[in-house]
Amino acid sequence: MSTVNLTNEDNDNDSEYMQTGDMDMTYISTSSQQTELPGGAEQQTMRVYLRVRPFSKEELSDKEDQDCVGIENSQTVTLNAPKGSANMKSSEKGIGMSLHKFSFSQIFGPEMMQSEIFEATVKSQMSDFLDGKNALLFSYGVTNAGKTYTIQGTPKQPGILPRVLDATFQYIGGHLYDGMDLKPYLRNDAQYLDPDQVKQEKSAKAAIFASVKEECEPLRSSGLESCSALTSNPTEADSSQFALWVAFFEIYNECVYDLLQASLCSKSKKRSSLRVCDDGAGNCYVKDLRWINVLTLAEASKVLQFGNKNRSAAATKLNQSSSRSHSIFTIKLLKIDDSTVTRISEFSLCDLAGSERCNKTKTFGERLKEAGNINNSLLILGKCLTALRNNQTEGMKNSYIPFRESKLTKLFQAVFCGKGRASMIVNINQCASTYDETLHVMKFSAVAKQVVQVIPDKTLKSLAPCLVGRDGKPLVKNGVMDTQALESFLSEEELLDEEDEANMSLATENELANMIESLRTKLLAERKRNLVQEMEIRNEMGDAMLQQLMESEELRSRQIEELKESFEEKLENTFEIYKDAIREHAYQSAMNNLEDDYVPFDEFIAEQDKVETLKRKVSELEGLTSSIGGLCAVPTVDQSCQTHPYKSTEAAEKIAIDSICEDKQQLIICLEKRLKDINVRLQNTRDGYLEKSSELDDLQRKSKDQTESMEEILWQNVQNDREIASLKSELAKLSQNSPMLLRPKRGLLANIRDAVTSPRKTSTTRTPRKTAHP
Ligand code: ADP
Ligand code: MG
Repeated sequence: MSTVNLTNEDNDNDSEYMQTGDMDMTYISTSSQQTELPGGAEQQTMRVYLRVRPFSKEELSDKEDQDCVGIENSQTVTLNAPKGSANMKSSEKGIGMSLHKFSFSQIFGPEMMQSEIFEATVKSQMSDFLDGKNALLFSYGVTNAGKTYTIQGTPKQPGILPRVLDATFQYIGGHLYDGMDLKPYLRNDAQYLDPDQVKQEKSAKAAIFASVKEECEPLRSSGLESCSALTSNPTEADSSQFALWVAFFEIYNECVYDLLQASLCSKSKKRSSLRVCDDGAGNCYVKDLRWINVLTLAEASKVLQFGNKNRSAAATKLNQSSSRSHSIFTIKLLKIDDSTVTRISEFSLCDLAGSERCNKTKTFGERLKEAGNINNSLLILGKCLTALRNNQTEGMKNSYIPFRESKLTKLFQAVFCGKGRASMIVNINQCASTYDETLHVMKFSAVAKQVVQVIPDKTLKSLAPCLVGRDGKPLVKNGVMDTQALESFLSEEELLDEEDEANMSLATENELANMIESLRTKLLAERKRNLVQEMEIRNEMGDAMLQQLMESEELRSRQIEELKESFEEKLENTFEIYKDAIREHAYQSAMNNLEDDYVPFDEFIAEQDKVETLKRKVSELEGLTSSIGGLCAVPTVDQSCQTHPYKSTEAAEKIAIDSICEDKQQLIICLEKRLKDINVRLQNTRDGYLEKSSELDDLQRKSKDQTESMEEILWQNVQNDREIASLKSELAKLSQNSPMLLRPKRGLLANIRDAVTSPRKTSTTRTPRKTAHP
């Protein structure tokens, strides 16, 4: 097996390749070299550490331990592709190698304690920070590799962040400034708060603490053993004081969210994103970010806890995975002398999003979306590191660095450009199933490790023209006009020195005239000098502006070029994803077809046996027919001619039999078809018959019912007739017994009453009444 440095194409100039054995090439970087530049500036490659996480119990039972990661020494690690990994597959095809070596500033194995990591990684950055310089620490790796464990740790095993806070408080000791009225402002400034603003700060802080349970107290006693002194504490005589402010935010999908905003916890409110602005001097800062003044380690821990709670709550609410966001905890240390901020430094700890690339198990749309933006910050970070690395090599100097293309790199541009020291802890697990991703992480870190940072010894003075008085003293101190100096600069009296003034009263008229004359020449000379100076300045300014214009134009065109490239890359990514999807689809369809056409092996063998037996039978029959043919054949005289006619008759017979067979077969098919037709028709007829018979049954039932009801009606009719007859006879009897009498003459009213009460009276009975009425 051969090993080769996989980052060959990346590591061109400032790396060395070491030939060890036939094909064994190892990449050895010029790691962590520190050089002193003239003027006290310091130059060193970015420190990149590797931390290998121990296996979890589940991983061990899942057989994830396949010796993929081998730590050779404190700076070299070997990655050995396991079976089934994409890397192994491609190496088997002859593309790439299955064994890779990487070197780091320092490698920490699974057994390393949190305290050892802190001591070995950020200790020098810690001294920088306490000394007024900026520091930045990234944790990089796939999800579940131990990034958060390294940065934050657990209450029992505190990570780097609580240790940095603890070390800072230890350093401050009794020099803590608890006024809370000096607060970080923009990126590198501070502002005074009036009493009302201080009150607001206090209530905001109280609100945060109120929602955090008292469970981070044991942090100090359990996990944090006292750190060894990093930088000597400020001496007792030193009157300087220090204030510590912290902020905690996350970048998700290129949006910045404050993790210390109380509103985040309420379910109803939508969380709003913050803007990243420029302070005018090229430093970016998060606008309206909440800064909390912390006075103790416990307070700082509560702030961290509050932010973490917010982060997971937001992730759950919006169905996001917190592993897809970068979380940044920033500590600002303000040095205060005589109620004035004289120095500000910051330490940012950045827990980067999981570096895993598009997850194949996700749906096509999800993957496309992620490729589109979620990992933009990581992509740009990688590009910036590559560009920074390239800029160090001759011939590639001044290549465009795309800091401004992501929120993350925009915020930390200054640190990469020398205003602080950056370092990175790369976290990996040793699992065989995530080997390919781990390899990708190592490639990324190989680039990061070659980035050289130039850190000036003292912070650079402003390049703006320095306004000085005649005594050479600056008129502006710490950005504030020195009014006294300015007044004296502007006063006319300054033109006369003290001696002149003293002698004035004693001078004669002549002497005075001379003096005036000499002053006039002085004034003239001064004016001339000023004019020349002004012209020079104008010229210089013109040149400078022209240069700036040209530079910015060049930058623009480079930016456009970069943008074009990045879009092309994104397009290519998308194209790849489409290609993948199509391939997957084709594979799936092929698999489906295969399933449809699948014949078990046993069945196939059985079928083949059948075919064999049939073939044998056919040949037997053929033999039989030929022997019959032979018996029937009439031998002819000519032997030579005998075979031909015989063969032809045999063939003819065979053809005839075949055609008969075929005819019969056709006939059978035809008959079968007809049979089938007939069956169908029979079935149809049967169905029709059944339907009709059921209809008939219904009708019969109905007619029976009707007959019954008819009979009943008839019977009732007979009854009625009988009744009518009996009534008639009764009526007849009655009419015989009482013959009709004429009614006595009565009044009209009585007649009407009669008519109404007995309406059934016949007209014959009424007629006499009518006639009776005159
Ligand atoms: P990440 O932030 O990279 O997604 P975590 O830091 O959450 O990963 O780690 C994943 C799991 O592994 C956690 O349960 C964590 O406690 C554990 N873990 C990580 N690193 C170590 C370590 N060095 N020692 C012991 N446990 C670890
Ligand atoms: Mg994490």
